[in-house]
Amino acid sequence: MANLSLQHIEKIYDGGVQAVWDFNLDVEDGELIVLVGPSGCGKSTTLRMVAGLEDISSGQLIIDGKDCTRLPPKDRDISMVFQNYALYGHMTIYENMAFSLTLRKEKKDIIHRKVMAAAEILDLKSQLNKKPKQLSGGQRQRVAMGRAIVRNPKVFLFDEPLSNLDAKLRGSMRREIMLLHKKLNATMMYVTHDQTEALTLADRIVCMSMGHVQQIGKPIELYEHPANTFVATFIGLPPMNMFDGKIEGGKFVSELFEYPLTADQAEKLKEYEGKDVILGARPENIVREGTIPFVVTNNENLGMNTLVHGKIDGKKIVVCKFAEWCNYKFGDEIKLGFDPERMHFFDKETTQAII
Ligand code: ADP
Repeated sequence: MANLSLQHIEKIYDGGVQAVWDFNLDVEDGELIVLVGPSGCGKSTTLRMVAGLEDISSGQLIIDGKDCTRLPPKDRDISMVFQNYALYGHMTIYENMAFSLTLRKEKKDIIHRKVMAAAEILDLKSQLNKKPKQLSGGQRQRVAMGRAIVRNPKVFLFDEPLSNLDAKLRGSMRREIMLLHKKLNATMMYVTHDQTEALTLADRIVCMSMGHVQQIGKPIELYEHPANTFVATFIGLPPMNMFDGKIEGGKFVSELFEYPLTADQAEKLKEYEGKDVILGARPENIVREGTIPFVVTNNENLGMNTLVHGKIDGKKIVVCKFAEWCNYKFGDEIKLGFDPERMHFFDKETTQAII
């Protein structure tokens, strides 16, 4: 296995589109990094530059201490698993998994040992004589992973591997990838637009927007301490509620409500007196012991908790998540407040987090 270092990596496509700006990341041996962000933010381009499928316009890619920036893909010792499994329909599962080793002219007994070991890890032993079309989507995705595993690469790359699967299968495949990562103790980079996949899978998340890295950190760091409004609203579902306002005399003042700051918040926000800020509150950090009038529009029971949608002052849509089964009706009024320990404040101008 290996460590990876991406240093000031940039990508400018022919025609001048800059897809990635100054990407910096050190990946430790055995780490699972998830690149997450909306469509078009540059995740796949970054992954493909690591694989060698796209040229790196500037910057350096170091794998295990070796400069691989200009190395062709086959010399990088990297395996990539794609969204469309790209299996060979006329070959059996065994032959599909053995294919890259056969190309490399490995000895038959070595190929057999590696294919059987991968089939064991992926629970595919009973499927080896079948053709891809006889397998389910989840099994085909596992074969695609098997093809990567038999090569015993330094680094595994995954490009949205689960996005062709239905929601239930995505969940179970996600857990399989987590187990696979544990079993192989492999260095992995994984691209997804799905924040749930990022939170559940990653050792560390790289959150991107418009070609720029917004934040790198453990899932809990991005969740509890988002660096800016982009990360705050992208990570977490339903997204964080955001309120525009100003800091005035120890209060957060918006068109919708006034909210007294705690002493600690007032201290941290004292340079923002009179300035525009954004108050952020996750749905689960809104409480019902407050003073802000909120009128319910929808009550969605999820079992363990309830999503309550509604409006403040007839216009601002807010989503709350209460940790019990609720039975609110359309038009019910609740007085909302915020858990003071879990409020976020952002600089309106720079969008960067203050608290
Ligand atoms: P993501 O994986 O986050 O959806 P991509 O890395 O695929 O994003 O794309 C990032 C940006 O680069 C987008 O604006 C996309 O249109 C552009 N792009 C991707 N591939 C090419 C290409 N081959 N030529 C020109 N522009 C491209």
